[in-house]
Amino acid sequence: MTTLVDPAPGGRPGDVARAGALAAELAERGVRGVVLAYVDTAGIGRVKTVPTARLAAAAAWGVGMSPVFDTFLADDSIVTTDVLGSPDGDLRLYPDLDGLVELAGQPGWAWAPVDRITQEGERHPGCSRTFLRRLVADAEERLGFTFRAGIEIEWSVGLGSAPDGEFVPAVSGPAYGATRQVELSDYAADLLAACAAQGVDVEQIHPEYAPGQFELSAGALDPVAAADRSVLVRQTVRAVSQRHGLRVSFAPAVSAEGVGNGGHIHLSCLRDGVNLHAGGQGRYGMTAEAESFVAGVLARLPALTAVTAPSPASYLRLRPSQWAGVFTAWGRETREAALRVVTGTAGRQEESANLEVKPVDLAANPYLALGCVIAAGLDGVAAAAPLPEEITGDPARFGAEEAAARGVHRLPVSLKEAVERFRGDEVLRAALGPVLADAVTAVRLGEAAAVEGLDDARVAAAYRWKY
Ligand code: GLU
Ligand code: MG
Repeated sequence: MTTLVDPAPGGRPGDVARAGALAAELAERGVRGVVLAYVDTAGIGRVKTVPTARLAAAAAWGVGMSPVFDTFLADDSIVTTDVLGSPDGDLRLYPDLDGLVELAGQPGWAWAPVDRITQEGERHPGCSRTFLRRLVADAEERLGFTFRAGIEIEWSVGLGSAPDGEFVPAVSGPAYGATRQVELSDYAADLLAACAAQGVDVEQIHPEYAPGQFELSAGALDPVAAADRSVLVRQTVRAVSQRHGLRVSFAPAVSAEGVGNGGHIHLSCLRDGVNLHAGGQGRYGMTAEAESFVAGVLARLPALTAVTAPSPASYLRLRPSQWAGVFTAWGRETREAALRVVTGTAGRQEESANLEVKPVDLAANPYLALGCVIAAGLDGVAAAAPLPEEITGDPARFGAEEAAARGVHRLPVSLKEAVERFRGDEVLRAALGPVLADAVTAVRLGEAAAVEGLDDARVAAAYRWKY
């Protein structure tokens, strides 16, 4: 379980001694430095690194970094809000020692996620990990809710030797093809070894649909740990790929056409450790609260896409009939509905039943995405929101009249449209707080402006190697 305690100047209770002991062990094993990782509002992973011997100092006093990155765009240009984007100020990055791991794909390095606080020791309102940590702590304290979450990771494996900027698939076999598995046999085995060494309990790794595409899924964790893991697994995939002469992309769309890379969220709500998505009187074993949670997420999907599909390239992926889930609908095991209710197989429902949210990609900051999905779901629970009828099959086949009658609508088709919906969503804005909500709006509008006038191929190229 992730610690839900805020960092403070001098260190979280017990952390400094623990960091000192961990640093000594790491140094003994030849670990030279620690990567301190966070994800900015645009979804770009950013880091500072410290020598291993500085870990205790980092746990006590944090490591400095400008708050300006909260309004960085994917191309490293900067936008501003009322309070963010100025060259002034400094923040302290505090490693969460519960998330510290030795990086198997990068010998000599360890890695830890960070929370950011101000120099005065206050929570930084722009820190996405702090946002998710506080939201989860509050749901537990106030409502007795806990969560199990997982983020699927899809990526495109390209040849490292491809001409600059191009994506050339590193495998030629068919979707889910046995040939692909053989072509990248050593690579996938090294990935499994690295994940195992880092305590990542991989459930599946397999060749996916699109050219050169693979997918990895791992066991469920508390939401903050699940978001941390999403960042760690991508760092690991990148490192192992580089050692194999491969170049990988987690971009929503490496090409303008075809199936993209998703980052589906799986989430279940628990009360007193009991899964609310199984064993209930509602549809497919959902309890009334689980149904309302699903209804809450469903109602806010158009606004949520500004957080879960945050890149102009996200809208190249969000197209019908590509399993990206672009219609406001839910269904049992329906891969074209935005929300897929997963019941689990007979005998495993209690462990497995969950809600899958599909219009999510890996350009999304995982802390913001999980937090906003949870906030939307909890709003549904608070309102005892009724869950509409399910759909089966591909909603793309519905005529306008049937779609309207069923309340099935296409999600935003552009980032600008998603931002408009997000701006009007008081629940998401309130959950994020004004600083983060304004950062999301400003960064999304900045990304949209950055690609104004570009055709789809150029948009795909602009973001291909950013995520
Ligand atoms: N690649 C699809 C997407 O972009 C997902 C395929 C799947 O269901 O795993 O969401
Ligand atoms: Mg997949």
